[in-house]
Amino acid sequence: MSTTDFTRQTHHEFLTASSQALVDANLQLSLANVGDTLAKRNREAWETFPQSAPLRELARQIKDATLADLAGHLETLEASVRERGGEVHYAGDGDDACRIVTDILRSRGAKRVVKSKSMTTEEIHLNDALEAAGIEPIETDLGEYIVQLSKQRPSHLVAPALHLRMPEIHQLLSTDAGETLPNTPEDLCAYARTRLRDAFATADAGITGANFAVAETGTIVLISNEGNARLTVTMPKLHIAILGIEKVIPKLADLPIFLKVLARAATGQKLSIYTTLANGPRKPDELEGPDEFHVVLLDNGRTRILEGPLRESLFCIRCGACLNVCPIYRNIGGHAYGGTYSGPIGAVLTPLYDGLTNNRHLPHASSLCGACQAACPVKIAIPEMLIQLRDQLHKEPGEMHWAEAQAYGLWARSMRSPRLYRFLTWLATRTVGRVLPSGWLKKLPGPLHGWTKNRDFPAPARERFRDWWSREGME
Ligand code: SF4
Repeated sequence: MSTTDFTRQTHHEFLTASSQALVDANLQLSLANVGDTLAKRNREAWETFPQSAPLRELARQIKDATLADLAGHLETLEASVRERGGEVHYAGDGDDACRIVTDILRSRGAKRVVKSKSMTTEEIHLNDALEAAGIEPIETDLGEYIVQLSKQRPSHLVAPALHLRMPEIHQLLSTDAGETLPNTPEDLCAYARTRLRDAFATADAGITGANFAVAETGTIVLISNEGNARLTVTMPKLHIAILGIEKVIPKLADLPIFLKVLARAATGQKLSIYTTLANGPRKPDELEGPDEFHVVLLDNGRTRILEGPLRESLFCIRCGACLNVCPIYRNIGGHAYGGTYSGPIGAVLTPLYDGLTNNRHLPHASSLCGACQAACPVKIAIPEMLIQLRDQLHKEPGEMHWAEAQAYGLWARSMRSPRLYRFLTWLATRTVGRVLPSGWLKKLPGPLHGWTKNRDFPAPARERFRDWWSREGME
């Protein structure tokens, strides 16, 4: 097996990276906590919140209705932001968005920016673009800051440094400090707080994503538990918010519904600690806030997805709940997926954004157990979407092995022909079913061997159900 530093790179070979992840002792120890903490909190949050079912349904309906008139809601959002003195920019893809942001920053002479956690800026690789433009980006979410120091990528939607353990974090922060820091969580947090306060005070601009953008008021909504998003918005003189176009919601009255389901799904909290509503540049009578306010609306394939059969993937509010309950994610972690988004929703989004054939293993990185859909606050039918992607993939020329194609062809023909089905099941029980006393096939031949590489395959029964049924005298 070739090895790769998959914690840093995107577009790597999924099978290699996931095999490496499975034998990475540190990673496995980190992942052991996912089920016991985040998944448990999420489950308990739903169980102890009687209104969760109708609220989740309502949140889903709002997303559905908003996407049905997305262009209209974006127009309203644009008008509302401009009315409050902000600027709106449309970015067709990630390069466009990076160019828009770097142009704004360069024209203001910005040299250093603070960022609050944003998966959208990860998606467009904004930090690379900023550094290439000579602008220093500083992540201010503690997990993101640690990940930035490690030169890796986030491995979870809401817990970006989940893959790192305390000794590694201690080492990274000590190196950053230029001295060995006391090795307690409190001391390490205290160091990061001091370090980042200085960054807030000296930054030329603040860059955020957005959890939601309210069309009727032009409000950018930021949710965090550390308060860093609020400081990113209020301290620097220039604020740029970058968000996918699907983040728009029509009205301020819709917001409490999403706040309630998002916090419970993400961390099991009733509400996140900080909910910041950014409403354009500072007004003359306001004490804090930026002088300039820009909103960059990113498409990057979203309008294409909107018109396709997997439109529902745009309902995602990036809570991470589906990752926490996924048996695949809980074994291989986020980096192995190779894209910005990992876990079950990443297995859908990455092929959609980055091409299916470039990510052919991702739709198969699921047991289709349905835990993701059950945990999702907007009940996205992720298993169904993964099956659709598998179907699309198998229709690509050359994607399916000839033996697999023959096997599926034979299965499809037998399902359409009762006589053929009866004959094949008779043949299977009389041959393989009778010579295998254990009832399990340990090794399938030739190109089918992959099925039995890591598990046994159930052999056909020794007797067909229909034979048993008639032997028992049933009609
Ligand atoms: S698919 Fe659902 S559970 Fe997964 S991150 Fe998105 S909103 Fe959360």
